[in-house]
Amino acid sequence: MAEVKLTNVNKVYSNGAHAVRGVNMEIADGEFIVFVGPSGCGKSTLLRMVAGLETVTEGDLFIDENRINDVSPAERNVAMVFQNYALYPHMTVRGNMSYGLKNRGDSKEEIEQKVIAAAKTLHIEDFLDRQPNQLSGGQRQRVAMGRAIVRNPKVFLFDEPLSNLDAKLRVQMRIEIKKLQRKMGVTSIYVTHDQTEAMTLADRLAVINNGQIEQMGKPIELYKDP
Ligand code: ADP
Ligand code: ADP
Repeated sequence: MAEVKLTNVNKVYSNGAHAVRGVNMEIADGEFIVFVGPSGCGKSTLLRMVAGLETVTEGDLFIDENRINDVSPAERNVAMVFQNYALYPHMTVRGNMSYGLKNRGDSKEEIEQKVIAAAKTLHIEDFLDRQPNQLSGGQRQRVAMGRAIVRNPKVFLFDEPLSNLDAKLRVQMRIEIKKLQRKMGVTSIYVTHDQTEAMTLADRLAVINNGQIEQMGKPIELYKDP
């Protein structure tokens, strides 16, 4: 469980692109926040800074009062789910889900127990010995989520996780993601350019434009009839 805070966060890439401009935000414990906005508005950069995959040019990031700007990605207690799944192709599902836990030194028994529990939750327990190329897109995304869940993170970070799936599966998975997040109560930040997805998932939405928060509020506040 965790609060996330961004104060005056800026990102200027080495080519001069000012991707994020003075973003301030407080995300409550257990809240599901969605960053929504057009391609290139800076959503992914924001998320990747929270993950520790991009440096912060100016401003501060906090998880539970701890400033994390200089904390390594592995030590931030966050888990990210990528659009392209980012699974290891030569490893089985079990291997993919175990890998991060092995690296941090969990015992074999502990790892197996966590992997089985997550696989059951995500309905992939029959696929544990398969490799990613033997799975459908939806199944791969479940594995990517399983790999995030087993870490028992304080924060989930989702970067357009459903964009590569067909429309029907997108709807189904988005319902499952929401249920799972509710059940686990893990603070979540979810990036999408899809407004329907954003409205369905979000406790609160941050509408991003040109590197800034244009609007922030509950879906019903932002999308009510004029
Ligand atoms: P979004 O996720 O909303 O599509 P991004 O965060 O990926 O937006 O990109 C925001 C801006 O930063 C864009 O103008 C993009 O071209 C630029 N940008 C993203 N990544 C890099 C990078 N590695 N180097 C330089 N510019 C980048
Ligand atoms: P982009 O939004 O630019 O497409 P990617 O989804 O390609 O970003 O992510 C960049 C790469 O970082 C991934 O392909 C992956 O190999 C690596 N990576 C960083 N953190 C993690 C993580 N927690 N789990 C798995 N892969 C990670």
